[in-house]
Amino acid sequence: MNLIFMGPPGAGKGTQARQIAEKYSIPQLSTGDMLRAAVKAGSEVGLKAKAAMESGGLVTDEIVVGIIGDRINEADCAGGFILDGFPRTVAQAEALEVMLKERSLKIDHVIDITADSEALVARITGRSTCSKCGEGYHKQHKAPAKAGICDKCGGALATRADDNEETVRNRLSVYEAQTAPVIDFYKNGGSFKTVDGMQNMDAVFQSLCDILG
Ligand code: AMP
Repeated sequence: MNLIFMGPPGAGKGTQARQIAEKYSIPQLSTGDMLRAAVKAGSEVGLKAKAAMESGGLVTDEIVVGIIGDRINEADCAGGFILDGFPRTVAQAEALEVMLKERSLKIDHVIDITADSEALVARITGRSTCSKCGEGYHKQHKAPAKAGICDKCGGALATRADDNEETVRNRLSVYEAQTAPVIDFYKNGGSFKTVDGMQNMDAVFQSLCDILG
């Protein structure tokens, strides 16, 4: 099962992709996570991506298409994968079509998780993630029992450098200008579905499971 999760920053696609990946035993391919790892490692890709990520802009299509092309060749993607945060431009969607065709693969579902933009700013600026196990938290909706510490594994919680209000607003406008057109790219295909990301997390998860069967 090959899936694409779309939606504005903060809609919950990363959190949901993580849970769906676990349920269906397929990897979550998050270009954001891969780029953050590259920045942290100081690799060539990381050095090229850093400035765009810090400002909330997009990293070049060439870089992200290269990353995804390499990643879907890995053995753990043979049984399917979830693309989380890719494609983010029409050019990336077109490049993905070529990559899939070359590998005789197809996308089974493109799921757009929708949300209201003002709610997104509040959601993103309150969130943190465990640096050890990846569990997500939010200062209003899901605060950890002990500040800064993961309830699940005791790891330290970290806040993303680009989760500040100014950068979030830029990420939202970049989404409207460059990523929203990708929805039109997929909308007319039979595999496109929408899920209301304003529901609580469990309800969003259930809606996704209903679609995936
Ligand atoms: P995310 O974790 O998906 O919110 O991504 C964080 C940042 O990584 C974005 O704001 C972009 O700077 C960059 N990024 C992630 N995925 C892509 C993509 N498909 N195309 C371009 N830039 C991306």
